[in-house]
Amino acid sequence: MLVDSHCHLDMLCAQQQLDIADVIAEAKEQAVEHMLCVSVSLERFAPMMELIEPWPQVSASVGVHPDGRDVEEPGVERLVALAQSGRIVAIGETGLDYFRSEGDLEWQRERFRCHIRAARQVGKPLIVHTRAAREDTLAILREEQAGEVGGVMHCFTEDWDTARAAMDLGFHISFSGIVTFKNAVDLKDVARKVPAERMLVETDSPYLAPVPRRGKPNRPAWVRHVAEYLAELRGEPLERLADYTTRNFHRLFSPAAR
Ligand SMILES: [Zn+2]
Ligand SMILES: [Zn+2]
Repeated sequence: MLVDSHCHLDMLCAQQQLDIADVIAEAKEQAVEHMLCVSVSLERFAPMMELIEPWPQVSASVGVHPDGRDVEEPGVERLVALAQSGRIVAIGETGLDYFRSEGDLEWQRERFRCHIRAARQVGKPLIVHTRAAREDTLAILREEQAGEVGGVMHCFTEDWDTARAAMDLGFHISFSGIVTFKNAVDLKDVARKVPAERMLVETDSPYLAPVPRRGKPNRPAWVRHVAEYLAELRGEPLERLADYTTRNFHRLFSPAAR
């Protein structure tokens, strides 16, 4: 059994005009039995929850992506209120993205702090997105005592020092299809070194389809390609990697396990 720890089912279904029932059935055929549907804006939150509502194998998060401009700005209170639902297992995705945004990004840092405060208030882990901003991301996680709730550095693409610093703060490291890309040499090295008990796998569907599906709209079923690639890279059977990444997921995101 595998878990896709990060996907955007609402975007996948809308963009590709797919029925969520088919997406979930296709995932199940590949032994992908659970997925976490990650929120990117408050505007899209209600329709996302409505879409996944009939599907207990889908859990969800609440948060506003660091790339979102001209969107409703989440206050701590609003996030806390929306996070009360039992279906919400995490806060995010949140973090810093200095690659896609420019200018004075104080608003992004403020938004990130706000998510961390909400996560600590509700006692749910964080889903952190970081791009071209590793130092500030780690600094803010430390300043805001994010280690109290922990979480995951999703779609990890940073170096080993960053992975280690994040793990020291109690975070997990999640690998996406990027690790299967030929030019991701340094990342493959990081993926060999991350301890089993800190690893997660994800698709970030509909983005970042792994080899051999690169360039296509990604889907949760294809987390299997990510897992197969990582298992080979780490020299272990797929079953073992599937087993520990699934256990890590449930330990991190199940209220009963916390
Ligand atoms: Zn992201
Ligand atoms: Zn995402």
